[in-house]
Amino acid sequence: MKLPGILFTLLTSLLAWSQTPKLPSHPQRLKIALDPGHGGEDGGAIGVKKLQEKEASLDLALALAQALETAGFEVLLTRKEDTFVPLWERAQKANDAGADLFLSLHFNAARSKGARGSEVYFLSLDQGDADAAEVAKLENAGGDRNPETQDVVAGILDDLAQKAFLQDSERLAVAIQTQLNQIGNIKQRGVKQAPFAVLRRAAMPAALVEAAFISNPKEEAKLRDPAFRKRVAEAVTQGVRRFFANGLPTSRRKAILGPR
Ligand SMILES: [Zn+2]
Repeated sequence: MKLPGILFTLLTSLLAWSQTPKLPSHPQRLKIALDPGHGGEDGGAIGVKKLQEKEASLDLALALAQALETAGFEVLLTRKEDTFVPLWERAQKANDAGADLFLSLHFNAARSKGARGSEVYFLSLDQGDADAAEVAKLENAGGDRNPETQDVVAGILDDLAQKAFLQDSERLAVAIQTQLNQIGNIKQRGVKQAPFAVLRRAAMPAALVEAAFISNPKEEAKLRDPAFRKRVAEAVTQGVRRFFANGLPTSRRKAILGPR
């Protein structure tokens, strides 16, 4: 009599299956907060042909939003128009929306017109190297403190929000930089760390992408080309997908599995 044996096996596997903790079959879509750098009175860097960074960053953000949505992500933009949004408010919007990632989009400016390529940064709690500190100084001009936050302790806690995610943020920066390096003619520049105010308050993996050098006339011209922006957007999207494929970030793991 083989039947009872088979039934027993079936029943025990059914029991084991029913006791296995399961992930939700339809987990919420992962939410990406995109932060187009600068805006309004803060134009950011400017190219020789007068392309303003605030304009280029919004155009790239819109292209990236489309690419990410096509890939199945939900997207939140910290600004959709040419408006001034203080730095502290940008990550706050991402925190309030429960975003899984924060990406701030910028374009580099260098004294040397020949400087080119993309650089991806994650937060440094100290000054970082001299070049990185210089880039952060330019990007931090948009007001890094909430004037309404009088509480010193709250201010310090804000500063620490990103600290818990630095490992994931580095992994994110590397994933995006690896993809950007594959875009033809863009010189590999590598992941860097700098004290960007806009990243400090983000309570999720966060990176700042300097997608190209607006100070380089050739790259400035490319930035006006929607086809180039689409290529950059697709590379960043691929980086984001690789980041999630290599393991959910700590924040998401907690949301799905609960605290351990
Ligand atoms: Zn910028």
